[in-house]
Amino acid sequence: MSVRPIHLLGSPVLRERAVEVEEIDDEVRALVEDLFDTMKADRGIGLAANQIGIARRVAVVDTGDEPPIVLINPVIVEHEGSVVEEEGCLSIPDIFAPVKRARRVVVETTDLEGNRTTVEAVDLRARAVQHEIDHLDGILFIDRVGPMKRQLLLAKWRRLRKGEKGYLKEVSPQTAETRGETGRSGY
Ligand SMILES: [Zn+2]
Repeated sequence: MSVRPIHLLGSPVLRERAVEVEEIDDEVRALVEDLFDTMKADRGIGLAANQIGIARRVAVVDTGDEPPIVLINPVIVEHEGSVVEEEGCLSIPDIFAPVKRARRVVVETTDLEGNRTTVEAVDLRARAVQHEIDHLDGILFIDRVGPMKRQLLLAKWRRLRKGEKGYLKEVSPQTAETRGETGRSGY
């Protein structure tokens, strides 16, 4: 339906614990569509509702190689293994760091018909699911690196943001295009 501006690190909504969805209504369906549209426009592989300023427990994941996942009130019910891989976030552009995540997860979620269902995800898809559920709990990937590394990342972020005002990123195909060339993605 529409591409929304993405909230950047510093915007308080990213630190909120999103609230449960009570019922799958038109508003929730529209939110899911906006999440997909905004994620695609910014060339991401996942996006949580907090990132477009809405603190509800809704997120999407699409790594491109398997069916997209809609996460509504998601709960990880199984996790296995651990992998350290570089991670980025659409709310903290140009900042990347290795983060440890489970290699495989099973997540319980509500589908758009309102039924509870489980989805299994491995590797990148599992990483994206864990990253998005963190967003719904107000947690960012920079919270999952050591304190020294976090200080360095935040210093770089402040350098990059120098002179910029506000915490909203207008997503345009051009900006995403430029970033896409680096071959790095975010969620
Ligand atoms: Zn993110």
